[in-house]
Amino acid sequence: CGIVGYIGTKDTKEILLHGLEKLEYRGYDSAGIAVKNDKETKVFKEKGRIADLRKQVDNDFNGTIGIGHTRWATHGEPSVTNSHPHQSHNQRFTLVHNGVIENYKQLKEEYLNDVDLVSDTDTEIIVQLIAKFADEGSSTLEAFRKTLSLLHGSYAIGLLDNEDNHTIYAAKNKSPLLLGKGDGFNVITSDAMAMLNLTNEFVELMDGEVIQVMDDKMLISDNEGTEIERESYIAEIDA
Ligand code: GLU
Repeated sequence: CGIVGYIGTKDTKEILLHGLEKLEYRGYDSAGIAVKNDKETKVFKEKGRIADLRKQVDNDFNGTIGIGHTRWATHGEPSVTNSHPHQSHNQRFTLVHNGVIENYKQLKEEYLNDVDLVSDTDTEIIVQLIAKFADEGSSTLEAFRKTLSLLHGSYAIGLLDNEDNHTIYAAKNKSPLLLGKGDGFNVITSDAMAMLNLTNEFVELMDGEVIQVMDDKMLISDNEGTEIERESYIAEIDA
């Protein structure tokens, strides 16, 4: 339903929670955030309100990279387990997803027969596929691209790699996703509203592009890996 992400120098917990609160008006049944520092990625999630999620968050754990999600369940009942972010079996990759993966059952049968899935979601397939391809030797970017090429359906995705302290990966197909530019930080969001307290300068993304968001730059590339330059625009909305 809703996605936020931040990479910069500030602790990301409050930024993500505030962003998710701004998305509450869209409706949701559960929510979660993942916070990453130089060593580990911690996931906090809860069924129900963002106010309840707040109580789950470990205030002593700080990280300057993070992603968050409000879920409107399409596959699998609303529950803590089914809420996002989802992690790969080895906990290296952490992912949030808006939309529906239509061929998730076929992908499970073809590629993930030996993997015990934790949740009942279509989403978990995406993060387990990325981990599988990375285990087989692909770089994160290659594993992400390869996975995206197999997906049928709609998605906006934010992805963290615990072994990469400088990047949020993102992509979209038929679901909205924007980049927000800041001074010393950058954000991703499915809805500009969520990030207007931080920036009003956004970059539009197109279906099929893969984005690497760092604190001081963002790299957009097309299916073939060719880099794309895109101008930002100023959103004229009152927060
Ligand atoms: N299909 C996914 C799920 O059920 C994502 C739903 C959403 O967009 O919130 O978990």
